[in-house]
Amino acid sequence: MVIVKRKELSLSERLYVPEIVRGLSITFRKMFEKKITRQYPEEPLVKTEVTRGQPRLVVKDDGAIACVSCGLCEAACPAYAITIDGGETDRPIEREPKRFDIDMLRCILCGFCEEACPKDAIFMSDELELADYSRQALVYDIEKLKRPAAAMRRRIEYVNRINDRWRDAPRPPMLVGRDAPHGAHAHSPAAAAQRPHAS
Ligand code: SF4
Ligand code: SF4
Repeated sequence: MVIVKRKELSLSERLYVPEIVRGLSITFRKMFEKKITRQYPEEPLVKTEVTRGQPRLVVKDDGAIACVSCGLCEAACPAYAITIDGGETDRPIEREPKRFDIDMLRCILCGFCEEACPKDAIFMSDELELADYSRQALVYDIEKLKRPAAAMRRRIEYVNRINDRWRDAPRPPMLVGRDAPHGAHAHSPAAAAQRPHAS
């Protein structure tokens, strides 16, 4: 059993009125300080490379969509927001999505799809605003999701930098013995040589 000792009140707290005056003085002081309320949407939010807005599909410089319809983002999405139907192509990549929908009302902007994609085909944009007149209009199809790679460059470079940092980080000791060479320490050059590296 824990006995909580009641705090002794000071004289001003026992008199009550001085504490009211102290509280009101803080209120009045704050009334004349610089306001920090943002007048959104007149004052838009500052967008940086870290901003995780709605996901968008990357269109490469040659005009082709980067997605190969592997379905990993669909499987990784915890909100079941992504629906993909794949199809064959006569281009060297062989597959691309015939249908790629993201239900923006379901999307929780978690970024798992961005992390799961092996082809750098889907990234979180800095587009945050979402409004329309029907639920159906907020299920974005492939045409609404496409964005040129140049428009996504800042986020793509940021994610690549983060991935490089993880690739170069020392592995936790628990991985030693499972996939490191025999007798090698996780931080040893031999173990480092076996790690996948950024191309
Ligand atoms: S950001 Fe998250 S919730 Fe939204 S589509 Fe991607 S994986 Fe699904
Ligand atoms: S966006 Fe990436 S993870 Fe999703 S289907 Fe296309 S290639 Fe696969």
